[in-house]
Amino acid sequence: MIPRKKILGVLSTYDESDLKIATICSHSALQIFHGARLEGFGTLGIALRRNRPYYESFPRASPEMVLEVESYRDVLRRDFQEKLISENALIIPHGSFVEYVGGESILEYFAVPMFGNRLTLYWEGDRERQRRWLTEAGVKAPRRYSSPSEIDRTVIVKLHGAKGGRGYFKASNPGEFEEKLRELRSRGSAGEFDEVLIEEFVPGVRYYPHFFITPLESPNLPNLSYGRIELLGIDRRLEVVDEIHRGLPEIVEDYLDYTVTGNIPVVVREKFVVDLLDAAARIASASRKLFDPGLIGPFCLETIYHPERGFTVFEISARIVAGTNLYPLGSPYSAYYYDEPVSMGRRIAKEIRKAMKLGALDKLIY
Ligand code: AMP
Repeated sequence: MIPRKKILGVLSTYDESDLKIATICSHSALQIFHGARLEGFGTLGIALRRNRPYYESFPRASPEMVLEVESYRDVLRRDFQEKLISENALIIPHGSFVEYVGGESILEYFAVPMFGNRLTLYWEGDRERQRRWLTEAGVKAPRRYSSPSEIDRTVIVKLHGAKGGRGYFKASNPGEFEEKLRELRSRGSAGEFDEVLIEEFVPGVRYYPHFFITPLESPNLPNLSYGRIELLGIDRRLEVVDEIHRGLPEIVEDYLDYTVTGNIPVVVREKFVVDLLDAAARIASASRKLFDPGLIGPFCLETIYHPERGFTVFEISARIVAGTNLYPLGSPYSAYYYDEPVSMGRRIAKEIRKAMKLGALDKLIY
């Protein structure tokens, strides 16, 4: 793993007056560039040749400079990294950046300064470690099953490597689990050695709140050991299974597909804002205990509300999520923090600007 000291060494060579906010042209890049431009930063997009003209077609969100790649993994090449560094590029990691470049490769080989704490890649990328994090935070999480023989209620089965919910299925007993897994394998939808995660299926209403934590300010919530947390929006993912009544997915009956296809805006009943902020505070505090300096910048909790059990957190995304794309001009919650329209992308840029003014950019980078 590249030590933080080394990355901060690279950062110390940067000309901050020419800092460029950079990311791969995918996922939430338009929002990130849009926000960076509003805060007066230069922008640098890393794009596949085919995608370049499309990203350049948005007058207010196109990156000012584009570096073309054949494959996103090219960003790991030494000469490419040197180019990024010579441009004073500060990478904003998003879901596609992590997925295409690979969490482990980033940790081992990517020496370009990134916004946030890259140790989150290590902690969220592994389901066991993420479980430890949720336990340390003391938030409610779905029960995990270490063996199919223990299945005693409805479970959701997640295949490792299944991208974004594809091929997940429900089962209510060990026999049903075996039968469905066998069928997925026979159809080639699951490999013989794929890791299988069995988790209690939590019924209820899903909410995906988007938070930003700044370590540059003092705690503003109970149970928060550092930083200030802002709730900048909430979405719900629109998954194929949500349309099952319309005949989708066109797969064997009973097999559900949780692939994300879009996002819809949500506001939560106001008293629940308290529960969501409390969970965010606990998760941030636990992050600092587990991997100092903990969460920095955007993160999202994937939650399900059940009338008797309250909120269950089934996943933490420790970076900007695509659901924030709903709010390029702010959300029903960002209005309570800012007098101007502030998206998550813009919030990131504001944070960088503020740290530069304080001479504390290193606090936000690994
Ligand atoms: P994930 O890959 O963990 O983000 O899950 C993808 C989707 O599966 C979620 O957005 C939910 O719709 C659903 N899901 C995941 N875990 C659970 C759970 N424990 N109970 C019910 N639904 C779940």
